[in-house]
Amino acid sequence: MTEEPLDPQLARYSFQRKLQEIGAVRGRATELISLYVPPGKQISDVMGYLRNEYAQSSNIKSRTTRKNVMWAIESLMGRVRAFKEPPEHGVAFFVGSKAVGADRSETVTFIVEPPEPLNTYLYRCDSTFYLDPLLSMVHEPDLWGLIVMDRAEVTLGFLRGKRVESLRNRQSQVPSKHGRGGQSAHRFERMIEHAAHEFFVKVAEMSAELFLPKKDQLKGILLGGPGATKEFFYKEGFLHYELQQKVVLPLFDTGYTDEHGLKELVDKATRTLHGLELTEEKRLVQRLLAEIRKAETGLAAYGERDVAHALDLGAVETLLVSDGLRRQLVTFRCGNCQKAFSKSLSDEELEAAGSRPCPSCGASSLAEVAREDYVESLFRRAIDSGATARIVSTESEEGEMLARAFAGVAAILRYPVGMTPALRPPAEG
Ligand SMILES: [Zn+2]
Repeated sequence: MTEEPLDPQLARYSFQRKLQEIGAVRGRATELISLYVPPGKQISDVMGYLRNEYAQSSNIKSRTTRKNVMWAIESLMGRVRAFKEPPEHGVAFFVGSKAVGADRSETVTFIVEPPEPLNTYLYRCDSTFYLDPLLSMVHEPDLWGLIVMDRAEVTLGFLRGKRVESLRNRQSQVPSKHGRGGQSAHRFERMIEHAAHEFFVKVAEMSAELFLPKKDQLKGILLGGPGATKEFFYKEGFLHYELQQKVVLPLFDTGYTDEHGLKELVDKATRTLHGLELTEEKRLVQRLLAEIRKAETGLAAYGERDVAHALDLGAVETLLVSDGLRRQLVTFRCGNCQKAFSKSLSDEELEAAGSRPCPSCGASSLAEVAREDYVESLFRRAIDSGATARIVSTESEEGEMLARAFAGVAAILRYPVGMTPALRPPAEG
């Protein structure tokens, strides 16, 4: 464990992973206990409450359930007693017997200090752990409204975190300026302007329908499209005034006004705007791809083995690791030769890991001595080696590519790792 405050990125990731892990636990019966202790609550009160619950639980009819619940409360009392007072934000305990396989169960204990203060005391015994108070602390991703338009078409949608959602599309009835048939230029011009005006009113209506109900969450509205139509639409103030205020300037030029246009819009905005959450990740993955394309001279490594090698050499400038990577870094010690080694394993591989022979002496007496989330361990290793590290969400296209094409781990390097040590540039700082 490091003593420095946890990197906020890593803290958010760890918190979410922990909730996923706790949320996945199932009890065979009503025997999983969730206990929320808010700041300021007297520990002695909590102990009194638990003693009472313990006495009550002796009435549970099913022998197994009674045994499991009583064990859980006893265990809980031991955990609670260890606190003199609740931590700054309070603390939540999850204790119980988790169903594994057909008829086995194993005991689990999780203790979570939340990122925000808890505000209620709560005890619950159920067949799943109760997570609502903590889930509400996992923040909603940023929400942006998106509009791409010209006189012929409009598409509206949301940028939610890193995901572009295309939700409304409409073609206008505005006649093309070419091919006006036999009508007088003047009359035709007026007709076009009238139709365009109606279309803009319609776009404003559609925007209001889609965006007004979300106006409090909307960080802003990105408006784009080919040509000058979007500027006209904005300057003439067609949008509802509350939405008009949210339009991000500058407006953005795009080639398309359909779903592709929305993606273009987000790409353009990403390059221009600070504070768009996806900027950094997208940029990094694109840089990685550019380096990979250079083959041997490229400053890139990907896949577990190559990235681990680059980390060992101190060659990593930026580590990119996918939050979709569900692996554990497990350390084993051999009971025969006493050698210890670590390996990253998926959940399925973990099941079979214990029965494997020692890679050093071949004896089958491996014992697990430590286990850590693989993403967290890589992240820490990178930071310790002076690299920067990014946990890349699988919600963006780039993030998905990192997860699928590069096994979830890649690195932008300071120098190509094939280079001989003598030729390496001196380390910075
Ligand atoms: Zn051995």
